[in-house]
Amino acid sequence: MLHLDKKIIILITSIMILSVSIILGIKSMTSNDGQKKDLIDSIKNIKYYKEANQSRYIKYQKENLNLNNDLVVLYVNIGIDKDFYTDIKPSLRPGTKEILVNKFYVLQSDYIPNDLEEIDDEYQVGGKMLVSEAAASFNQMAKKAQQENLHIRAVSAYRSYDYQDNLYHRYVNRDGQTKADTYSARPGHSEHQTGLAVDVDNVTQTFDNFGNTEEALWMRANAYKYGFILRYTKENEFITGYQEEPWHYRYVGVQIASKMREENISSYEEYYFKYLDN
Ligand SMILES: [Zn+2]
Repeated sequence: MLHLDKKIIILITSIMILSVSIILGIKSMTSNDGQKKDLIDSIKNIKYYKEANQSRYIKYQKENLNLNNDLVVLYVNIGIDKDFYTDIKPSLRPGTKEILVNKFYVLQSDYIPNDLEEIDDEYQVGGKMLVSEAAASFNQMAKKAQQENLHIRAVSAYRSYDYQDNLYHRYVNRDGQTKADTYSARPGHSEHQTGLAVDVDNVTQTFDNFGNTEEALWMRANAYKYGFILRYTKENEFITGYQEEPWHYRYVGVQIASKMREENISSYEEYYFKYLDN
């Protein structure tokens, strides 16, 4: 008799444990579904929400509970929920000063900007070229700096696909691909191929010391007036995938550069996917 009782007790206990588990399971499933629905409802009204990215928003939000919904949508649209150099697409708005080239958007090997023009001799070394509008603006900027006794000189500007290919592979051979990827673009992924990016020095220091110069301070305060933005900063490293480059400026035009400054937008990716993505 006692033996049977024991069996019954074990059976009842097992059933109870099982029931509780099932109830808890269902509860957590429905509350998950509820959370998902709440998130979708609250992000659907965000201006740059995309139906096609819905499941990525949900996943990214779960992994980044500290982010507000606006940023979840923006970052997923930029693509940083994916690994760099995956899901690569053709560059956006090619042939314009709004072009987007980064680790997710690539230029063809035969992409050469239309109207390349040499920067004025006194503000560059070795015949460096930019797209004419950017070159003219760079000349004005360097001239203005010169009037304040500061020296801004282009040491690298337009670079062809083949040039970047060589450069990148030299770095890979020296430091390995993982390290090289933090400071050098893979061929087709360099902004220099757009003819809108320029690396500068102040003539007396090498470009990699530019960040410590008075000229760097001046550029940070004034470059936007000439349509240039500081492209790779500590703040936006998680978006661009590059370590900071105080010497690398990108021409986007005065309008965009001013708006980015006004709104304190740290990366061109954020600007692009807020205002230019259709
Ligand atoms: Zn550069």
